[in-house]
Amino acid sequence: MSLLEGYWRKLKIGFVLLIPSALLVFFGEQIAGAVNLDAWILQLVGAVVFFVTLLVLAKGAKCPSCRTNLLFYAIGNTPGGNWVEWLKTAENCPKCGFTSHTEGRK
Ligand SMILES: [Zn+2]
Repeated sequence: MSLLEGYWRKLKIGFVLLIPSALLVFFGEQIAGAVNLDAWILQLVGAVVFFVTLLVLAKGAKCPSCRTNLLFYAIGNTPGGNWVEWLKTAENCPKCGFTSHTEGRK
């Protein structure tokens, strides 16, 4: 079982929110033309959704034992940008060795 088993579900929902909000920020002007809204409104909404989602995701990814942020750890320390796979499969905290097995089932 992965260390972040329960969190992984949340992460997937997060990605679903992050992608369209990032698109709003980067393609706000093009989208604004299509939906008849001001570009800055779309970009602002996109930016807010993006950062709130990122914050929630980052908060939820902490090691239950030592509070190391595993999301940022994974992004910074997995070679080849394979941090998504790492988060999915990690069973031990890389800092304190905490394992999900000692926590019991959720
Ligand atoms: Zn830890």
